[in-house]
Amino acid sequence: MEHNLPGAADQAGFLVDLSNVVRDRRLGGPAARSLHRFRLAVEALARLTGDPGVQVYPVADRSLLGPVGEFADRAEVTVLRRWIGEGLVEQVGDADQRILELMEMTGAARTRAVTGDRFTAHRREYPWVQGNTDRFLKPVAGPSGTVRLIPRVMGVCTEGEISRADELAAFKKQGLLKRSDQPLTEVVNRFWRCPEPRCSAYDARGGRVLLPRMHNGVPTCELHSLSLADAGRRPAMAQLKVMVDGKCKGRYTVEEGSRTGVGRQPAGGIALYGLLSPAVAARISREHVVVSADGGILLVHDVSTYGTRMRTTDRHGRPGPWRRLSPRQDRRFGPGDEVELTPGVVLTRSNRRFPAELAAAWQNARPEHPAPEGASLPTSLG
Ligand SMILES: [Zn+2]
Repeated sequence: MEHNLPGAADQAGFLVDLSNVVRDRRLGGPAARSLHRFRLAVEALARLTGDPGVQVYPVADRSLLGPVGEFADRAEVTVLRRWIGEGLVEQVGDADQRILELMEMTGAARTRAVTGDRFTAHRREYPWVQGNTDRFLKPVAGPSGTVRLIPRVMGVCTEGEISRADELAAFKKQGLLKRSDQPLTEVVNRFWRCPEPRCSAYDARGGRVLLPRMHNGVPTCELHSLSLADAGRRPAMAQLKVMVDGKCKGRYTVEEGSRTGVGRQPAGGIALYGLLSPAVAARISREHVVVSADGGILLVHDVSTYGTRMRTTDRHGRPGPWRRLSPRQDRRFGPGDEVELTPGVVLTRSNRRFPAELAAAWQNARPEHPAPEGASLPTSLG
């Protein structure tokens, strides 16, 4: 087995997403984690390439060795530790990120990766993953306990799907998901203060507020490794984007409890006349729609003369059909939803969600099992 592990990515034809393979219960045996699955995958690579000495570079998350009791056999843990110690397996905080980085670095060599992951959260950073059909191999159960490798058709994820997966990954990375995969709202919904007086990374004094990292159940400053103190409720906010002919022309923040008119020139709201040609501006009412934030949910209603259309996205971020908004009736305005004031002028929401919406997104995100094309699914936020 070890003759297949050169201990250097640039000497390997294949990367293996080790945590993903070791934890895949559909392969070789019922244990939660099994190194035997990795052996089966290497055997499959040897058959695929016709080379028993096929060179493989496994990358593992640090969490793979966490609950050692989950391994089929304690001896596997010893082997894995030795491989990591000898540099035959690379251990990193985020294996997904590292695998894509290595694939990009070894791009000319067309190194391929064995994984069941879709890397949805990373597609903005690594756009070549979109639609790829020849650089990923998915392990599946083969006849009589073997593993087969099939080309992974990565497909093209929508912006909505990518944003959602991105958000899930960010929270997961900070340890802000409970076992039930629900966000720790009691941490996410608050500001936090670092004992280091000049550090404002987690409170309202700074510009950008970071998400704390959970360390032994305590929110911790990642810069100073100090426990953070509660600094009060974090008001919910959402960001609106004004898109004109598909380009973002303005971003506006909407705060919890607020009511904001959007139109040609509303009193005290978001005025669009400066962003539009006079002909287009003339088709928009002085106050066209009203956006309000209530209880962590963003709502929109139509107050225009000529009407407004809206289309919502399903839980995978795919847009549904355009529908006319009923006048003066509140509709939920979720991330990815679009409100069209007149053709070419669209109001949308940025990726950032209200905390109340996070729980729904968590429950509904199923990045590993996309719905069939054209399937109609209820939206969690619409
Ligand atoms: Zn700090």
